[in-house]
Amino acid sequence: MPLLARFVTAPLVVEVHRGALSELAAILADQRISTSGRVAIAVGPTHGPIVQRTFEHDLVEADWFTVEGGTINTAVKLVEQIRQQRYDAIVGIGGGTVLDVTKFAAARLGLPMVAVATNLAHDGVASPISTLDNDAGRGSYGVPAPIAVLVDLDLIAQAPPRSVSSGIGEIVSNLSAVADWEAAHALQGEEMDGLAVSLARTSAQAVVNHPGGVTDDGFLATLAEGLVLSGISMVVAGTSRPSSGACHEISHAIDLLHPDRRAFHGEQVGVGAAFAWFLRDEEEMFRTTVDCLHRHGLPVRPADLGFGLEEFAAVVEYAPQTRPGRFTILEQLDLGPARIKAKVDEFNDHVYARIATADGSVTPEGRVL
Ligand SMILES: [Zn+2]
Repeated sequence: MPLLARFVTAPLVVEVHRGALSELAAILADQRISTSGRVAIAVGPTHGPIVQRTFEHDLVEADWFTVEGGTINTAVKLVEQIRQQRYDAIVGIGGGTVLDVTKFAAARLGLPMVAVATNLAHDGVASPISTLDNDAGRGSYGVPAPIAVLVDLDLIAQAPPRSVSSGIGEIVSNLSAVADWEAAHALQGEEMDGLAVSLARTSAQAVVNHPGGVTDDGFLATLAEGLVLSGISMVVAGTSRPSSGACHEISHAIDLLHPDRRAFHGEQVGVGAAFAWFLRDEEEMFRTTVDCLHRHGLPVRPADLGFGLEEFAAVVEYAPQTRPGRFTILEQLDLGPARIKAKVDEFNDHVYARIATADGSVTPEGRVL
């Protein structure tokens, strides 16, 4: 009887624990990624010098590069610097920006990339996508996924709490993204991938159902592992589909229309996911999403992101244009401006009622205390 299976490209190493950074040299050698330690290491301007001190006696053959800003120009500059020498691999140590720039540079140079996350703000740590600012606003570029992924919980504990929490919005949005994918499959015949769905949805559910918060290691490990699996779900699917639907279209629209008012990516997609569940008229999932975001102190309503209801309605109206060809609840309902505004108003009232019911921490004007 034949044993049929498919091969899934996955990282050689996934390490999520305290002190993971100090194992970098051993992992590079043990996994034959770089036996000589001749690697290019990209770091951000803030944490770079601190991180570099960890390697006083390790990785002496490595060269260090500072990455400032997440633009395509920064990535191209890094390519120019790195191509002067021969390296076995590129290591990115930092938050989303550093990892996105490093992934793009590694793809251009054809070198394997090792991701060391110092933050959990989004699911880019293991994903095959690099998000960079360009002249047209912000673009997503397909790149090979990292060959090794390290999440050092000591570093995560030092990251700004708001940025770590935003990763919760990112992963919760998977549930909404998968619902969009299922609708696209049912209504448009779009192909689905059950393995990608399992990875994306299960990782989100693990975080939603976890009773802890960002101050405890157990929760952080679940969040980190969830974001890693989310990235792998995109590798399996070959697109960002399992983690990106109407929630992300709304976030991209905020990025493009209001670059000066961008919040954390995970905060924006969390609000987008809550709004998408409201549009689907799925009360239970709407409540689950709102409760999860609110419990972890994340924005839920447009005002929490600094937008008036008219402004948010304009964002929603623009959202489908950010990802042409992706069928989500926004394209499915295809609401005109007046109905969008009515839905945004209704959504706002519903969230207010839900939060007030949950803990009474809302003023009569709807301001979250
Ligand atoms: Zn995302």
